[in-house]
Amino acid sequence: MAQHTGLTVEDFRSVAASFLDAAASSGIACKAFGAIMPPALHANALAWQQHIFAQGFAGIAWPVTYGGQGLSIDHGLAWSEECARRAIAPYMNFQGFVLTGGAILKFGTDEQKSRYLRATLAADILWCQLFSEPEAGSDLVSLSTRAEPTSDGWVVTGQKVWSSTAQLADHGILLARTNTGEPGHRGISFFLVDMHAPGIDVRPLKQMTGDHEFCEVFFDEAPLDANSLLGELGAGWTIATSVLADERAEVGAAGIGLQRRTQRLIDSADTDNTAMRARVATLAANAGAMRRLLDRSAGNPLLGPLVKLGNTEFETHRTRCELDSMGAAGMQTGDIHDEFLYAPGMRVAGGTSEIQRNLIGERLLGLPREPKSRQQ
Ligand SMILES: Cc1cc2nc3c(=O)[nH]c(=O)nc-3n(C[C@H](O)[C@H](O)[C@H](O)COP(=O)(O)OP(=O)(O)OC[C@H]3O[C@@H](n4cnc5c(N)ncnc54)[C@H](O)[C@@H]3O)c2cc1C
Repeated sequence: MAQHTGLTVEDFRSVAASFLDAAASSGIACKAFGAIMPPALHANALAWQQHIFAQGFAGIAWPVTYGGQGLSIDHGLAWSEECARRAIAPYMNFQGFVLTGGAILKFGTDEQKSRYLRATLAADILWCQLFSEPEAGSDLVSLSTRAEPTSDGWVVTGQKVWSSTAQLADHGILLARTNTGEPGHRGISFFLVDMHAPGIDVRPLKQMTGDHEFCEVFFDEAPLDANSLLGELGAGWTIATSVLADERAEVGAAGIGLQRRTQRLIDSADTDNTAMRARVATLAANAGAMRRLLDRSAGNPLLGPLVKLGNTEFETHRTRCELDSMGAAGMQTGDIHDEFLYAPGMRVAGGTSEIQRNLIGERLLGLPREPKSRQQ
């Protein structure tokens, strides 16, 4: 595996840019997608991730011991920006690199780090996120899937839903109740689950894009070994809070690509039409503001809800405007068709826009907290 240790951010950026240009012309680069990899791109994204890893562009800010490059967050940002500029996917598996990787780095044992991190970067393990349930989405703390102790681990029973790419995943990060006498967040633990274990049934759900990006996952006394627990027993909520903050920040950071997409709109829209010109001008100004906000938000988790909300609301308006400017042809097929149908999901995934507004009100503006359910 190539190493880029010791390069300044600007030198690293220029090495990355040359690498990406070569990858784009050779055809190995996978085209950019949202946070979730569309299953149709699986083979392409897998080959791309293996190439990124071999050439030293995976896990840029992760420790070298675990297969990373040991560089800074700014190096990682330079990679994301160069990928966004070329509409190339910066990695294959958001759930693995951002959610699971972040959690294992912060809360994992040495054994868990050695077992999972390098394999995740090399795309030997694809991860899914098993948090939401039919009766627990925004109000995640009401989850009822339970893990009961056995002589050599746990058995899990319950149901998860909206688990993106679970049908392709080797492992999942699971929130389950380990103390049913504690209904609130204190009774929840965090597990690393082998998705090929018996008792796990994954059923893909079809969405309006026509794809099957997410699934229902049923657990019927599925066994987990004793090393599956991440962090302390009952500390699952603390880890989940950290994972959800990483998720918000990363979905918001996807706004790096806004500039390119807004430019595409400017180039294609009928700006002789006064109303369209005003809409495009407003979007271009908002894209500039979002870009500044992203620069300020790097490494500041408090701004995560703001960038997540800003990016996903912007995409809703931008795709609507671009579709209007193309007319019926835009709904036939192609990038804008896919982006338009994908945008509403991103206002929901990783915490809905309403929940982001609540977080902004409470944590950034210092408004009174909204009343909690009895369980919390
Ligand atoms: C594309 C996509 C991918 C996803 N991938 C995954 C995944 O991989 N793993 C996973 O675990 N989950 C995943 N999810 C699920 C996602 O996290 C939930 O859909 C989300 O948290 C909302 O939960 P819910 O769907 O149960 O809606 P609900 O929580 O039932 O919300 C319904 C409506 O009520 C509003 N609402 C709820 N509570 C409040 C409140 N306190 N204040 C104001 N308004 C409120 C919401 O904003 C929403 O409009 C995904 C969702 C989508 C759309």
